[in-house]
Amino acid sequence: MKIYCPICKKKIIYDLDNEYRPFCSKKCKLIDLGSWASEDYSIPGKFESGDSNENF
Ligand SMILES: [Zn+2]
Repeated sequence: MKIYCPICKKKIIYDLDNEYRPFCSKKCKLIDLGSWASEDYSIPGKFESGDSNENF
């Protein structure tokens, strides 16, 4: 099974032995993790706190 790395679009083989799948390399995986932490994905409320449901 061949896929394209979501980050660099390089064609790679989807291998369960590849710990960085679906990325081609550790570098691309780290880039993706960085994207989640940045505003690129902008998930509303995902990382927000203090607005609601804080009444323990
Ligand atoms: Zn890549």
